Amino acid sequence: MADRPWDVIIVGQGLAGTTLAWRLLDAGQRVLVLDACEPVTSSKIAAGLITPITGQRMVLTWRCEEFLAAARAFYASIEKRTGAKLLHDRVAVRLFRSDEERQNWAGRCGRPDYRPYVLSSQPTPLLDPETADASGGGFAMHAAQLDVGAYLEASRTAFACDAVTLDWVRDVTFSANGVSVQGHRARLLVSCEGHAATRNPYFWKVPFIAAKGDILTVRFRRPVEPQCLHRGIWLAPTAESQVFKVGSTYDWKTLDQVPNASAATEIEGKLQEFFHVPYTVLDHRAAVRPIITQSRAFIGRHPELQQLGYFNGLGSKGSLHAPWYAQCLAQHLVHQAPLPEDVDVRKHF
Ligand SMILES: Cc1cc2nc3c(=O)[nH]c(=O)nc-3n(C[C@H](O)[C@H](O)[C@H](O)COP(=O)(O)OP(=O)(O)OC[C@H]3O[C@@H](n4cnc5c(N)ncnc54)[C@H](O)[C@@H]3O)c2cc1C
Repeated sequence: MADRPWDVIIVGQGLAGTTLAWRLLDAGQRVLVLDACEPVTSSKIAAGLITPITGQRMVLTWRCEEFLAAARAFYASIEKRTGAKLLHDRVAVRLFRSDEERQNWAGRCGRPDYRPYVLSSQPTPLLDPETADASGGGFAMHAAQLDVGAYLEASRTAFACDAVTLDWVRDVTFSANGVSVQGHRARLLVSCEGHAATRNPYFWKVPFIAAKGDILTVRFRRPVEPQCLHRGIWLAPTAESQVFKVGSTYDWKTLDQVPNASAATEIEGKLQEFFHVPYTVLDHRAAVRPIITQSRAFIGRHPELQQLGYFNGLGSKGSLHAPWYAQCLAQHLVHQAPLPEDVDVRKHF
């Protein structure tokens, strides 16, 4: 196998690398994916939420319509090819924590661009009062949730994948028309390494503002509707009924994967402010979100090494954004399609 060159070798099988691999396969490329197979990564612990209206100010997410259309079509095509159910439609209920939030929403909710995402018939009451305190008001919207673990797993069996931690200095040799990586040859090598790309010697100039996030898995002691809730934290259903992921924190200083007890206390404190159902904590994980500028990724080729590509910076929105960016990058790498200027990694050099 090592004798026949690959078209593209991808380093990293998180949301970025996995989605790019599918896009390149669709463009007729022979692809090899190398991944360190760490038990905990940002993608492996993510809740996979796709929420159109987010943040304290309840802003419609950037390029929502375009990204959502790309994501829905892409995940549906992967479901067909793998036979795995990956994307779930969800109702997401956003509860207000203050008058300021209520007023913010009053100023936005009538806008025509928000209308497709807000449930035309709002549930009354918004939530069962036995389950949660929704007395401060809120609204319900159409959302979705990617089963990220299932997506990575199902994809892994469809690609050529090697369990390898790549050392960029020792393992990679560039030549005039390609690259050699641990005995494999290819035309292109693409870094999809998440936060680990901060240690990549070719891309050290890309400035990260990464954030560690802690996340809990809890089992509620009575049935809870399989919908998403947002109120300072979020609750996200899992494949198992009554088991939810609850998160998440943002720690901009301690960029490690060690679960932090005070982050768990913060999450549980916010949960207990409004949620009445008793629970048991089953699991606590932490990982670093690859953030460059908000959740806007950067893609493209290295300015001096045409054989070297980059896809990183999915931030907190990997599930929604990965299919759109991966499509742009695949078209750029295979057909030299121009990249939108605002996402081209070369602007950081
Ligand atoms: C707590 C938490 C909750 C989140 N919840 C959501 C959510 O609800 N919705 C959402 O859309 N996003 C969420 N995110 C963000 C989402 O997880 C990220 O956008 C996404 O995981 C980024 O994917 P990535 O592929 O860029 O990076 P990663 O997931 O970090 O993947 C990088 C991969 O590359 C491998 N790798 C790195 N360097 C090398 C090397 N040198 N050699 C070999 N392999 C290498 C790593 O092992 C890893 O497998 C959450 C993140 C966290 C931390």
